[in-house]
Order: sequence, then structure tokens, then C-alpha cells
Amino acid sequence: PPETAEDFLHAVARDDIEFVLAMFVNIDGKPCCKLVPAAAVPELLDEGLGFAGHAVGAIGQSPADPDLVAVPDVSTYTVLPWRTGLAAVMCDPHVGGAPWPYAPRVILRRRLAALAERGMDFKVGAEPEYFLVRRTPDGGVAVADDEDTADLPCYDARGLGRSLDHVATVSRALTTLGWGNYSNDHEDANGQFEHDFAYADALVTADRVILFRYLVQMLARESGLLATFMPKPFGHLTGSGLHLHMSLWDRASGTELFRGANDARGLGMSDLGYSFIAGVLAHAPAVVAFGCPTVNSYKRLAARDDTASGSSWAPTWATYGGNNRTQMLRVPAPGRVEARCVDSSANPYLAMTALLAAGLDGIDHGMDPGAPNEANLEREGDWDTAPALPATLAEAAAAVTADPVLRAAFGKVSNGEFVDYYAQLKQSEFAAYHRRVGDWEIERYLTAF
Ligand code: GLU
Ligand code: MG
Ligand code: MG
Repeated sequence: PPETAEDFLHAVARDDIEFVLAMFVNIDGKPCCKLVPAAAVPELLDEGLGFAGHAVGAIGQSPADPDLVAVPDVSTYTVLPWRTGLAAVMCDPHVGGAPWPYAPRVILRRRLAALAERGMDFKVGAEPEYFLVRRTPDGGVAVADDEDTADLPCYDARGLGRSLDHVATVSRALTTLGWGNYSNDHEDANGQFEHDFAYADALVTADRVILFRYLVQMLARESGLLATFMPKPFGHLTGSGLHLHMSLWDRASGTELFRGANDARGLGMSDLGYSFIAGVLAHAPAVVAFGCPTVNSYKRLAARDDTASGSSWAPTWATYGGNNRTQMLRVPAPGRVEARCVDSSANPYLAMTALLAAGLDGIDHGMDPGAPNEANLEREGDWDTAPALPATLAEAAAAVTADPVLRAAFGKVSNGEFVDYYAQLKQSEFAAYHRRVGDWEIERYLTAF
């Protein structure tokens, strides 16, 4: 990857790039960009590019504020494989010459820099899931593939075969990008797919999650399909997760710090790894507010529901376990921890910031998570003593303001603290939802009393 502006310009010329998308995300993780012709790239690199912050939605700006200036991070230069001559670069929004403290990428970068000072790196692998759907004439939504109605559709070869053109196109694009795509499958819900690629430094993976969603949406659209990353588009099917596989590494020696040879608990983890797990569990409600940031997210976090396979594969309880998919945190293999709570609507920069801050708090206080939970938490009776995750976005947002560790990690913004700004956004999102009366209520209550 380019290290300097000069390298960047060289790459643009070498790759015959006609346009560069200068991209950043708002607090919802929505990609925003301008298309910059190659001739104007030197200016982009010199001066950044101005945006009216208020226009992109939540990012801490009013219409009266000065421009956000998007400053390219040249190391993120990416040739986009679905159009010739098109590249993207991720940018960090600045205001008044300083990184904008409301910008999710700036927030994660700051935490990773602080971690590097402690001699550690945070690496993350992401497993994004999504649905291919179409709008129906009555204004509803249906699975795009009419034949995709089977129970237990996970890994279904026929389902994959019918959507092979799309799945193969995405896989090919990921391979061209050099992200190390190693598997693509039909997931557990009708119409649902997942593509996996190699883990990397947290910031690199967060950028890739944003570009991945964009790429899948653009490619689906070219086939007349709609790809949705909404966490729970269908009540009777499992939702879409964004599992994040986490590990800490020692910078000097390049060794994995979560791996432990003499683990009495038998999962191949170190004490430091267990403390990280304990920290995430201790801060679970506030972590979930960032990992599950929509009203709809909480309809996915219901372990026991009526999905076709009888499992939602999504957690309801703040617990950890070994290779057990009913836990919020799973240790699938020695040395790494999978956060299964995070969903496909998460802003990856904010979700990783929350997980890292919570885990480090566990390390700083030598927390111990106790024995791994071996229960099937989708079965009633097994969860009696487990602490529940928030049931609604409002509950999760309240947990954020009450969490001093996340408060410190997300830092200060122009007139207060980021967590309060975030919680207020999420409370008003919940309030907007709550003002609507839905079909279920009419059916249940109209004539009930
Ligand atoms: N779709 C499930 C979720 O909502 C995850 C399925 C899996 O384990 O891959 O998290
Ligand atoms: Mg999956
Ligand atoms: Mg997984």
C-alpha cells in the first residue's frame, strides 16, 4: 500500500485510474464520498476535500458549522474491481485542521494509537452476512430467489447454485482486492449469504467492512437485486450478524497475546485473553449499543425464536464459552475471541472501539470471567443465572451513558462527550420508532378489551 502522497500518485498512474472515490463514514456507518478525477488527485492529497457535515447525517455538525475536510489516508488506496479505472481512498474528517472527534474512523484510530503505545496491536476478522431481497408490489420485501423457501437452508448447495452468479462475482471481486477471500456460503436464512476474508489490523478490517457492504450492494444492483444489511428483515428467519474475531498481539515480538499453552479451562487461552473476555462481558450492555445500533437489531438478539432451523444463532445473554454458538463471546480456537452480538448494521469503527475499550478494562483490572458457559442458551432453563443483554435500543443507549470506561474511550467532542451525543441519537431513533403503531398491536389489541 502507498505510504506517501507520492506513492499514491504513482499508483493512480500505474493502475490507469480515472477517478478516485474520496470516502468517509458518518456515525451510522453510511459511506459518503465525492468522485475525484485523476487530474484533481494531487489537490485532494494536498488539501483534502470539503463536505457539508450536517448534510451526511449524524456526525456532530449543524448547517452553521465550517466544512468537514476529508483528509485521505493514503495507505487505504483500493482499486475497485467492479469498474475499470475506479479507486477508493478512506479519509479522516478534519475541522479547523484537527481530526474531527465525532468521526468514527478518527475515534478508532485514536484508540489503536494508544494501544500501540502500550506495545499492542488489535487484529480483527469480520464475517459479514446479508440478504438478497426484492421489493414486492404491495410495498413489502421478499427473498429475491422465489425458490429459496426450504427449511434449514444453511450451506444449501441448490440455494447457492441458483445465486451462483452473484456469489461468484462477489468472491472474484474480493480475490481481486487481495483480501484473502476463503469462503462464501448460503447462510441459515432463506436469501441470506456470507463472504469471509482474512483477518487484519482492526482499522484495515473496519475499512474493508465498509467497502464490502458497498461492493455487495453495487454488484447486486447490477443484477437487479437488492442486498440488505438490515439486521432482521424477516421476523421468522435468523438475522444478519457481523461476527468479529478479535486478538491482541505484542508489537515487538509479533506474538499472539490471547494464546495460552497451560490453560486449566481448556480453551487454549492466556490469562490476558480471559481478562479481555471478562472486560467485554462486564461492559456488555454498552458494547451492544455500538454493536447493535438500530431498533431492528434487538429483534435479532433473541436466542430462542421460531426460525426455520429452530435457532437464531444470535445471543441474548452476556456469557462466553468455547466452541458454542449460543454464547455472546465464543472461543472458536485457541487465541481468539468471536463477538457474536455484533450485527450487520454496526458501524465497524465504533463497534471495535467499544469492544477494545471494554476488553482492555478487563485486562487493566485483571478481571476473570469464571468458567466457560457450556449450556445451550437457546433452551429454556439453561439461562436462569445469565445476565441478559439489553432488550431494546433505548435500554442499550441508557447503558452507554452509564459506562465510565466507554465514556473515556470515545472521548470528548465539541460540547460534551461522544457517548452522550451517541446515546441521545439512539434515544431519538427509538422514540421515532415508538411513536408508530404497528400491525401486531392492532391485531392483538384492537378488539381485545
Ligand atoms: N445469522 C446469525 C446471526 O445473526 C449467525 C449465524 C452464524 O453462526 O454464522 O448472528
Ligand atoms: Mg455466519
Ligand atoms: Mg461466526
